[in-house]
Amino acid sequence: MPPACRMPPGPYHRGVAIDQATSPAAGTPVAAERSAAKRVLLARPRGYCAGVDRAVQAVESALDLYGAPVYVRKQIVHNLHVVRALEAKGAIFVDETDEVPEQATVVFSAHGVAPSVYAEAEQRGLRTIDATCPLVTKVHQEVRRFAAADYDILLIGHEGHEEVIGTSGEAPANVHLVDGPEGVASVDVRDADKVVWLSQTTLSVDETLQTVDALRERFPLLESPPSDDICYATQNRQAAVKLIAPQVDLFLVVGSANSSNSVRMVEVARAAGAPAAYLVENSDAIDDAWLMDVSTVGLSSGASVPEILVTGAMEHLAARGFADVDEVSHVEERLSFALPQEIRRSLRERRASAE
Ligand code: SF4
Repeated sequence: MPPACRMPPGPYHRGVAIDQATSPAAGTPVAAERSAAKRVLLARPRGYCAGVDRAVQAVESALDLYGAPVYVRKQIVHNLHVVRALEAKGAIFVDETDEVPEQATVVFSAHGVAPSVYAEAEQRGLRTIDATCPLVTKVHQEVRRFAAADYDILLIGHEGHEEVIGTSGEAPANVHLVDGPEGVASVDVRDADKVVWLSQTTLSVDETLQTVDALRERFPLLESPPSDDICYATQNRQAAVKLIAPQVDLFLVVGSANSSNSVRMVEVARAAGAPAAYLVENSDAIDDAWLMDVSTVGLSSGASVPEILVTGAMEHLAARGFADVDEVSHVEERLSFALPQEIRRSLRERRASAE
């Protein structure tokens, strides 16, 4: 394990990245020596995923192109800090499309919406910008395809989550929500020989597999989606948490309580061996009592969390003696998505008129 790289500026000393695939941190003499000192193991990847980055940029670009106010249906991403920052720039968040004045601009959030929401926006003459994450759109397309072939679709997800509401809205008569393994017994399908499972993108990988096993026991001919619905960002953040959790006394995940992927990371940390794990909105939510008798803190953040909140948590921990930070890397993420087509079109038009 490489030694921590001491960096003079800042209240904490940021260590070099440790590639756990090739350099196991636990069990080495250096790790044993350092385990007595207070330190932070910082997960990578963490924070913003490609879908969140695109959605936030979509609102910022809309404000720049069309001017304030720009309306946003629901929280653009599930993070209070992001929502407040966009409000300060002129975004107005609403719950439903009928709260948006006619002819105004509305952005649909990264979690996706049902077709009825597009129809209502069109009826009201709204300019719509669809910031649905392309990986959520992929699940919508799967629902449409299997519904057209008259399958019963068993959608594994959390009741009431915006993504699930939007996805189910593609084919309400065909979709049955399965909220974890305990929901399997009550599923009622028309033809047990023609069923397929799909899932919300931000679930726990392990719990979803348990649900699929339980479904397969009940429906032996259950078909699987052509590819994983749980997105790369959710899987990578959970995998990084799993690497670190067995080595820490406490795991902190920065994220909002309504962020599904952030909440799942806390569950994954506990299941992977962290004696205690908490979700914190920001550094103010870190309870000093949690740090009593703790030498190693694991730290990560959900896919909708800006890095500034993680930096705040590191500064908070450094002020309490946890100044050594080693970054533990599961994988490098390089994915990015193009901005929504409505924004790209407007940017092209602006460029053309400036020429
Ligand atoms: S968490 Fe996954 S599905 Fe959700 S916005 Fe990010 S990449 Fe897309």
